[in-house]
Amino acid sequence: LSSFRSRDPLDFKDIFIAVKTTRKYHKSRLELLIQTWVSQAKEQTYIFTDGEDSELQRRTGVNLINTNCSAAHTRQALCCKMSVEYDKFIESQKKWFCHVDDDNYVILPSLRGLLSSYHHSQDVYLGRPSLDHPIEAAERVKSDGSVSVKFWFATGGAGFCISRGLALKMSPWASTAEKIRLPDDCTIGYIIEALLEVTLTHTHLFHSHLENLQKLPTDTVLEQVTLSFGGFENRRNVVSIVGGFSLADDPTRFKTVHCLLYPDTNWCPKPKHS
Ligand code: UDP
Ligand code: MN
Repeated sequence: LSSFRSRDPLDFKDIFIAVKTTRKYHKSRLELLIQTWVSQAKEQTYIFTDGEDSELQRRTGVNLINTNCSAAHTRQALCCKMSVEYDKFIESQKKWFCHVDDDNYVILPSLRGLLSSYHHSQDVYLGRPSLDHPIEAAERVKSDGSVSVKFWFATGGAGFCISRGLALKMSPWASTAEKIRLPDDCTIGYIIEALLEVTLTHTHLFHSHLENLQKLPTDTVLEQVTLSFGGFENRRNVVSIVGGFSLADDPTRFKTVHCLLYPDTNWCPKPKHS
């Protein structure tokens, strides 16, 4: 009773996974996610984009939400998407909000295992800090005389999760994004750490392409929660994992990871038996 760690694994349907994308990446990035991990979590995945694609929606049956936010890669446009993600999560009644980018692979069994060790009614903010020190920003919201504030935030490009209990406490600050002029992931950190005084639980199971993904030990890849690929002019920054696909056939390694996790998938190479 002294511990909040729950014994029972969380039900998959209690996780809300928001994928942030943009119209120009539907073909090049989103299709791969839909073919791989999203296919295993169609009911709990919500894809937030900025343009119509009824053909994709009809063909794949995914939850595709046109935020009507601008398709520009600006702070305002990204914060606009994040606030639609938040509203849809609150509406969904699910227990956990997780956000990922369209260049993330989510290892669903690991995500479920990780979230199962916390309780959704507690204040939980889980992710990979994007810097090795807290960020310092000019304080604009509090009025206690302080001029700057230090806080950690989880890098959006590696994915992060928030418990429902904490998400509900964030609602009075929903319009904060407009005032503090920070990027969307940073704004989340500001609201949670600086305003609500809840600390980020640092996890190294979430990965963005800001790190060297080749350094992740091969035998631990399937235990991670999120993976990514590429990055600025660095197409070769991918996890090192061997399976049925060559680098040419699977440059992101997402198909290889997927077939190791779900070998019965119809498009996965069948292992040869003697
Ligand atoms: N993105 C977006 N609008 C844009 C450009 C990008 O919503 O105009 C999304 C993109 O789909 C991805 C995230 O923002 O989910 C990060 O984009 P990207 O991976 O291209 O950039 P980086 O990770 O280098 O910031
Ligand atoms: Mn990215």
